Amino acid sequence: MNFIFPPHAPSFVEVEGVSEYFPVHRIYCVGRNYAEHALEMGADPDREEPFFFCKPADAVVHHGSFLDFPSVTQNLHHEIELVVALQKGGKDIGFEEALDCVFGYAVGIDLTRRDLQGAAKKMGRPWDSGKAFDESAPCSAIRPATAIGHPQKGTISLDVNGETRQYGDLEQMIWKIPEVIMKLSQLFQLAPGDLIYTGTPAGVGPLQSGDLVHGRIEAIGELEITFR
Ligand code: MN
Repeated sequence: MNFIFPPHAPSFVEVEGVSEYFPVHRIYCVGRNYAEHALEMGADPDREEPFFFCKPADAVVHHGSFLDFPSVTQNLHHEIELVVALQKGGKDIGFEEALDCVFGYAVGIDLTRRDLQGAAKKMGRPWDSGKAFDESAPCSAIRPATAIGHPQKGTISLDVNGETRQYGDLEQMIWKIPEVIMKLSQLFQLAPGDLIYTGTPAGVGPLQSGDLVHGRIEAIGELEITFR
């Protein structure tokens, strides 16, 4: 097939322990999946139906990256999140089969221009400029589920310049991993290569130019990014 110009190379994430890369198809994100974070955002943490938004696949940023501070925002926020990487997709995936779709897990940061997101919320407009901007989806190497199983608990935390800002446990997730996959597959045809950012614990806050951001999830890995 001939194209009028070369197509973009696929986005990818490293896989721990092997030389092959995980090709990224789509990036889905879950909103408000930890009660304390829902409260700090002024929402009701009662098990309301999960909601989802997307980031472009090429928003992925690798561990150890140096990033330009995003344009326009006066209030860039960090959100540390467990990332689920799919090896299998489908529609209307059942609860029992959901975990078979998972290739592995990674540490992600859902970078958010909170000021733009807030303005969009207020005006009933889409969240894209607040959530789906360039380099908004840092992601660590993926640890395969064949090596670590499927985490149900474990500490999840984020430091900025060595100071802890976010701290929680995966067991605080309102919607568990199989439920997230099941619900998402009712809305979208999931596919191998999809990444799902599963929501953030409490403690989100602003980042500045020059900040060193370090996220970790017990048994999953570590992710570090620096803003120039
Ligand atoms: Mn998030």
